[in-house]
Amino acid sequence: QTALVWLRDDLRLDDNPALHAAADLGMPLTVVYVLDEESAGVRPLGGAARWWLHHSLAALAASLEASDSRLLLRRGPAEQVIREVAVETGAVHLFWNRRYGEPERAIDTAVKAWARDNGLEASSFQANLLFEPWTVKTGSGGPYKVFTPFWRACLASHDVRDPLEPPAQIPGPPPSGRTRASDELDSWHLLPSSPDWSGGLAATWTPGEQGARHRLDDFLDGPAGEYGTGRNLPAIEGTSRLSPHLRFGEVSPFRVWREIRRSFPRTVPADVGIFRSELGWREFCWQLLYNNPELATRNYRPEFDRFAWQRLGRGELAAWQQGRTGYPLVDAGMRQLWQTGWMHNRVRMAAASFLVKNLLADWRIGEQWFWDTLVDADAASNPANWQWVAGSGADASPYYRIFNPVTQSRKFDAGGRYLREFVPELAGLDNKAIHEPWKAGATDYPEPLIELPESRERALAAYQQLKDG
Ligand code: FAD
Repeated sequence: QTALVWLRDDLRLDDNPALHAAADLGMPLTVVYVLDEESAGVRPLGGAARWWLHHSLAALAASLEASDSRLLLRRGPAEQVIREVAVETGAVHLFWNRRYGEPERAIDTAVKAWARDNGLEASSFQANLLFEPWTVKTGSGGPYKVFTPFWRACLASHDVRDPLEPPAQIPGPPPSGRTRASDELDSWHLLPSSPDWSGGLAATWTPGEQGARHRLDDFLDGPAGEYGTGRNLPAIEGTSRLSPHLRFGEVSPFRVWREIRRSFPRTVPADVGIFRSELGWREFCWQLLYNNPELATRNYRPEFDRFAWQRLGRGELAAWQQGRTGYPLVDAGMRQLWQTGWMHNRVRMAAASFLVKNLLADWRIGEQWFWDTLVDADAASNPANWQWVAGSGADASPYYRIFNPVTQSRKFDAGGRYLREFVPELAGLDNKAIHEPWKAGATDYPEPLIELPESRERALAAYQQLKDG
């Protein structure tokens, strides 16, 4: 008798309840990952996330091998592939940690039904969210639409459980007689080749469980205590940079929660409380996606279906994507994204606001670009935050809030360190001129793509028109 653990967005040994329960059975164990780019509704990963996945799977395979186990890689429609692997390996019990997107849940439900009809047991676990979306409801039984009461209700509903330690022993796979070989990771071509744009990603990140743990420890030992102010300054490492690790489940939110408590055993300082509520935003976004499966394609607030988004002029989208808008903060952010696969949150808000408000582009255009270029591209957080910026989302930024990229960079990068790092052609300007280079007549840097005051007025008028019906 053998068992099967199906890993998905939980590429870790630590605090992995599915793996833990399977290992406890003591029977030979197959650990499988399926690259599913075919099932209906499953959103194919963007380029940066594919790069991350490759390295994360390589790291996971190495840790499983160190535990005398191994990772089986298969590709195809997940429902069919898992059934095949279960039959091949003679599994009697299937284990996985739950996912919350609609197409993924449909697949899991189908596999569960198949298992039941064929005499296999299937067990699923809570591992990737601290609070499962269906457990947090308003007094009238519906989902929360506003973050603060949502998070308050989460914290009041139950304690966050302690994480599980990695299994002491992971049983090896069943004898390979009937099992077809694993795919070679390289054969999936997750890495870019020509051109290979991943150098900056490799220089910035260490995908995998160990890399995640280092980030967590470094953050709690350092910037966490001053997160309240540090998180707004893009020039410093004031935030945890855990987002891609959380996205791929290389660290569990339960582990993060636990390590916070361990680092601050008496009371959690206010700054760290703010950090915890950012984890709450992640939960909120997933709750939104769970209740609104089309969050990435439909306005959460349907009145926005009437909004007069503008078609971008020739070159405008490319200028935004490539960081050539003439606004240093937006350009620095977009170049940071392209080079490293990540952008600081404050700059994400400014760059997104520039696209949907100053350029009046449909938020879905920006969402798709971020989906393709972020290493932390997340099926819930990305659309939820884009809709937040556009004003079409839940608990969204009010439509009249239009980030001014010049004011933002003066305020949050006063010394221009961030701007100089990512827009080196401005490095020679002084701290005043660097925020408005057109005034200094900088020659090798683009002129502003659009005037701020006029584009702001145009956006306000468009939003007012929507409001007036
Ligand atoms: P920290 O400040 O250290 O926060 C800790 C963790 O909390 C993050 O790792 C993340 O998991 C979570 N978190 C923080 N802020 C948010 C938020 N606003 N919404 C949801 N979760 C949050 N985050 C993603 O993880 N994936 C995305 O695809 C994504 N797209 C975004 C798009 C736009 C337009 C904007 C404005 C924000 C987006 N965010 C996204 C949220 C946020 O920018 C990132 O989570 C954060 O910058 C990651 O850096 P960090 O790990 O250092 O964050």
